[in-house]
This record gives sequence, C-alpha cells and structure tokens, in this order.
Amino acid sequence: MTQESQKAPYTTDNVGIPVESDEHSLTVGADGPILLQDHYLIEKMAQFNRERVPERVVHAKGSGAYGFFEVTNDVSQFTRADLFQPGRRTPMLARFSTVAGEQGSPDTWRDPRGFALKFYTGHGNYDMVGNNTPVFFVRDTIKFQDFIRSQKRHPVTGLRSNDMQWDFWTLSPESAHQVAWLMGDRGIPRTYRHMNGYSSHTYMWINGGGERFWVKYHFKTDQGIEFLTQADADELAGSDADLHRRDLFRAIESGNAPSWSLKVQIMPFEDAADYRFNPFDLTKVWPHGDYPLIDVGRMVLDRNPEDYFVHIEQAAFEPSNMVPGIGPSPDKMLLGRLFSYPDTHRYRIGPNYAQLPPNRPHAPVNSYAKDGPMRYEPARTAMPYAPNSYGGPAADFARFGEPASWHTAGELVREAYRPHREDDDFGQAGTLVRQVLDDAARDRLVSNVSGHLAQDVSRPVLERALQYWRSIDKDLGDRIAARTDRG
Ligand code: NDP
Repeated sequence: MTQESQKAPYTTDNVGIPVESDEHSLTVGADGPILLQDHYLIEKMAQFNRERVPERVVHAKGSGAYGFFEVTNDVSQFTRADLFQPGRRTPMLARFSTVAGEQGSPDTWRDPRGFALKFYTGHGNYDMVGNNTPVFFVRDTIKFQDFIRSQKRHPVTGLRSNDMQWDFWTLSPESAHQVAWLMGDRGIPRTYRHMNGYSSHTYMWINGGGERFWVKYHFKTDQGIEFLTQADADELAGSDADLHRRDLFRAIESGNAPSWSLKVQIMPFEDAADYRFNPFDLTKVWPHGDYPLIDVGRMVLDRNPEDYFVHIEQAAFEPSNMVPGIGPSPDKMLLGRLFSYPDTHRYRIGPNYAQLPPNRPHAPVNSYAKDGPMRYEPARTAMPYAPNSYGGPAADFARFGEPASWHTAGELVREAYRPHREDDDFGQAGTLVRQVLDDAARDRLVSNVSGHLAQDVSRPVLERALQYWRSIDKDLGDRIAARTDRG
C-alpha cells in the first residue's frame, strides 16, 4: 500500500484526476464569469443531467435484494432444471413493486405487487416475473397496453381516474377474478415481506427423460400474510410513502432476512386438453383440490444491494430467460411478455444491459453478440460469426436434453381461447368471494369497492360496475349498490 492511498480519499473527476475544489467553480475574479476550461464543473453538470434512465412504464416503483434459493424436496422427476436439482443452492435477486404508480408514488396504493426473481443458475439466468396474485386482469397480450393506460393518468387532466379503471374492467369481464382479488384484503399488503408471490403463468417443465409437465409456482411468505386496511393505507400514503421500501431494507439490514417457501402445482402434460378450466388462461387458477401444492424449496433475501440504482433500477428481469428443463406454455400473456420485457430493457437501459452487475449471469457467456453502446465484455467467440473454424462456440443443446415444445397446427386466427367446460369470467371470482373470504373480509370488500366507485365514476360506468359485481355474486353486488347510494 502506498503512503498516498493510506491517507483520506481525495475527490477526483470521473477518470481519477484529483480535482482542485469541491466548492468553487473557476472564475475570472471572484465575481465571475465561469470558464469553460473548468472541466470538472462541466462534467458534474453534464453527468447530473443524465442521472436518470427512463422509469419502467409499469412497475416503476420498487425495491429489491439479493439472496439465495435452496432446494428442500426432490422434484427432479418433473424437471431437470439446474436450480431445482436436489441439494442445489442458487444465488438470486428479487424485486418487488407496485404496478401503476410512478417512481415516487406511495407504496401503499391498492395495486397488485410485482414479484420478479432472477436466479443465477449453472445454465444461465432463470427469471420469473410474477405477481403477488395468482391471476391477471386480461388473458390476451393485445389488451395489456389498453389495460395499463386505463390504470395510469388521464391524458387531459394528468390524474388517475376511477372512471377509466371501471370503464375498462367492466368492458373486459375476464378481469372479474383479479379485480375481486385486488379489492379484497390482499390488494394492499402490509409490507413486501407479508405477501405471497405467484408465477401466475403456466410454464412447462421437462425432466431428464424428456417427459413434459405443466407447472404453476407459488412462493408462500414465511412471515405470514398481513394486509393494510384502506383507511390505514390512505393515511400511510401521506405519512410514509416509502414504507415498503424502508421495511425491506431495514429488515435485511437488521439480520431479519425474509423468506418464502416455493411450492408448485404440477399438471401432467396430457391433462391440459380437457381440464375443466383452460389451464393456460391467466385469469384462472388451478384449484388446489385438483392439483395440490408440492414442496420445492426456500428463497431467502439476506443482502441489500450496495447501490439502489445500479442493482435495482438497472435490474432487467425477463420471462424469456428460461433455462434447460423449463419452457413456455401457450399462455398468450406469457408469450407476449417474452418479447416485451427484453425490448423494454433495450430501450430503457441499452442493448448491453445483460453485462451490468444485477443482470450478469454467473454461468459462462459464449454469445456471438458484439459491440453496441456501453459494451465492456469482449465477445469470446474467436470470430464474430458462427459457424467458424477457429474454435468459436457451437450450439450443442443436445447435452442439455429436450427443448420445450408442444404440438400445434391450424389456421391463423384471432380468436378467444377454446373454452373448457367450466370456463366463464365470473365463476372463480364468485368462488373467492363465497368460499374463501369470511364475513369480515367480505364486509371490507364491499366497503373498498363502494368507496372506489363513489369517486369520479360516471353513471353508465357505475351501472355496468354494479352489474359486474352482481355477476360475481348477486348478494355482494346488491350490498355494493346499496352502499354507493346511487344503485
Ligand atoms: P382453496 O380453499 O384450496 O384455496 C383458497 C386459497 O385462497 C388459499 O389457499 C389462499 O391462497 C387464498 N386466499 C385466502 N384468503 C384470500 C384472500 N383474502 N384473497 C385472495 N386469496 C385468498 O381453494 P381453491 O384452490 O379451490 O381456490 C378457490 C379460490 O381461491 C380461487 O377461485 C381463487 O380465487 C382463490 N385462490 C386460489 C389459489 C390457487 O392457486 N388455487 C391461489 C390463491 C387464491 P394461498 O394459499 O396461496 O395464500
């Protein structure tokens, strides 16, 4: 160690040159003008102007932490994915978020919560971009942009609008299950630690023998489910907008690492064709009675990132990151997201986002990608093209087993999913209201919905909303109508 480096650190510019002052710009005499040759000042101003990357269009406000996932039960008969093999412990990153709010919005707004995970497996990164709900508002990716715009700000007023939200929901009855879930207790978790995470989507698992299964993931919080009432959440939105971010950071900092137990539902491949619900419809669950939960492992978040922007704002989760042993399903929402996530990262962070610390795989990268803005890892491919005869990598997926696939044939159509015998938009929402919620939870649901409908909802939209709730459950709809005073 040199004598120089033992002393207190001195300020430098971005390339390590010692600066002359932290406090005074270079001027002609004490009263100015400022000189263009004050390179350090110019660098500071220019850097400041470029501090932001565009915030995510959805899931802008979030928090995250590093940790690990460890396997506690042998599920190798269902998948050969590296991270799910017996005894495996895989480093990971998690990011939780609200959906509609902007970067500075309160953590306690009623909204689904994102539950995005990145596992640094031996065969590359595996990402699961889930939510704290097992279902979603729409089932076809072509409606996603419209749905989000209805939840964001009105183009004229710049305000969020309950009228837009109910207008879209009531014209899209497939939203009923998710809206019933959202308006209930779980629509405002007490903290990120007190909520479950679900893949929501159905994925394919493939075992070592090439056998295929359909799978849904359930990350159950070991802290227990807890929620905030609407009144408490409203108050906290004003007094502590960053409640959930602070809670997660402080819990980990104080050694109180939160954990979740991963369980899966497994459907034999052949069951999908005539299961009573379409198993790829994102607005439906698979009832536990049909496909019980099977233990897989445990995820623990025990390390706060050293820099929020570097590790969380630049974290790029993408459901297209599926490792050998895992594949997509015919879920139209999932198939759309396979394109949109990497695309948004290219726009938001830049084409070389995979080289940044939170996104860098721990597995070797032998990609033929090259160049582009901010690239710093060279392509280790001998030649910039494949195949080449100079020792560059060559695709050899056979060593990792069968790729994910399913048989498909038919005309090109724009149609809804073929309905299975019990498919309808309101059935599972009604089951939730009647069979899962108790009286007190139903009372809070009535209060939450009627409170929401009472603000800024036009008459025709309100009429449709009351009909929507009566379709979910007649009695509940009548109670909401009575509470809105306009029904
Ligand atoms: P079960 O009785 O086996 O499961 C009901 C599940 O509902 C519970 O396991 C719990 O999920 C979840 N739950 C409990 N309280 C609430 C609440 N206030 N808001 C939302 N969810 C809650 O029944 P089924 O599997 O037959 O499903 C019945 C209904 O339960 C479904 O129509 C769906 O609305 C809801 N549900 C089902 C899930 C599934 O994957 N089968 C998952 C979550 C909800 P958890 O154990 O995950 O906390």
